[in-house]
Amino acid sequence: MSIQMVDLRGQYLKIKDKIDEAIQQVLDSSAFINGQVVRDFGADLAEYLSVKHVIPCANGTDALQVAFMALGLEQGDEVIVPCFTYVATAEALALLGLKPVLVDVDPQTFLIDPAEIEKNITSKTRAIVPVHLFGQCADMDSIMSIADRYHLFVVEDAAQSIGAVYTRANGDTAYAGCIGDIGTTSFFPSKNLGCYGDGGALFTNDSSLEEKIRMICNHGQKKKYHHSLIGVNSRLDTIQAAVLQVKLKYLDQYSAARNKVADFYDKAFAGDGRFTTPKRMEKSTHVFHQYTLIMNDISRDSLRAHLLENGIPSMVYYPLPLNEQEAYKSVGNFPVTKDLCSRVLSLPMSTELTAEQLDLITETVLNFSE
Ligand SMILES: *Cc1c(COP(=O)(O)O)cnc(C)c1O
Repeated sequence: MSIQMVDLRGQYLKIKDKIDEAIQQVLDSSAFINGQVVRDFGADLAEYLSVKHVIPCANGTDALQVAFMALGLEQGDEVIVPCFTYVATAEALALLGLKPVLVDVDPQTFLIDPAEIEKNITSKTRAIVPVHLFGQCADMDSIMSIADRYHLFVVEDAAQSIGAVYTRANGDTAYAGCIGDIGTTSFFPSKNLGCYGDGGALFTNDSSLEEKIRMICNHGQKKKYHHSLIGVNSRLDTIQAAVLQVKLKYLDQYSAARNKVADFYDKAFAGDGRFTTPKRMEKSTHVFHQYTLIMNDISRDSLRAHLLENGIPSMVYYPLPLNEQEAYKSVGNFPVTKDLCSRVLSLPMSTELTAEQLDLITETVLNFSE
């Protein structure tokens, strides 16, 4: 029995005929860039998300960079980002000469802490980037109300949370990435909606931002060879769009499968004080991009070694706070992030895990002794 963190091949085999046919159609049309399928997939995803505009692009990191460019942020402007996240958020800012201002996260949900956001606002702050980490939405009601009060943009990083639904204080619901000014996502193969290469997208309900985003993704041009903005080359290729168009139809099924795995893990570990299971936000559904345990007074390294001896992979997302990364070294005190980085462990999470595999994983975790 071979267990992987994510079983991409098993997932592909279940829909192989549909995927192969969709790819073959692109090969036959040979419209590899800007094919009709790219526009169709964008429209399908916009409909799924109930958002006005989806602009596909080359990857999730570009999506963040293009978002900051479209908002007209200028060198030296400050943007608030969580300290506990993947590097892409800070990277896109640094490349544009913007200043990432790191803030700490909630110790139980791993999500950006609104109280910490407010403490870090200065006269140079222009935007907040909530990262909907591991598959559930940050506290968007609080974040949007801070943004309103201080006139800040909100760019939601929904790379790990596509399909999660947030319920606003007024009862309205919205998908992750569709509440702030711009949402971004990634279709990296292991993401919840993954293609077979790189891919990404931006979401917005603002039609003037949409036009700017489309132009920036395509060398700043609206009319071919007339460049009115400085842009980038960031397109989703047609083969990837074809794969995504097929897989989007299964996204709800995939989210349900991930929730089943998470429920199984929660139940198995509930009675064992050595582990804290991931807390779920009240106002957001969870699509479990990762299932992440917190170790209580046990050695994470020893547990990982024990799992590996039994053929079970595990990963540490993330081993270092952003401010301790060599390229982003900065002063600051982020006690929650620092603590989490030393205690979190993510278990295999995929749409293909079987009951036997889940039994083996949970039994192996539970029979660990130091
Ligand atoms: C994966 C990821 C990204 C970047 O996406 P790529 O497509 O790999 O560039 C950005 N933010 C978060 C939170 C991610 O998990």
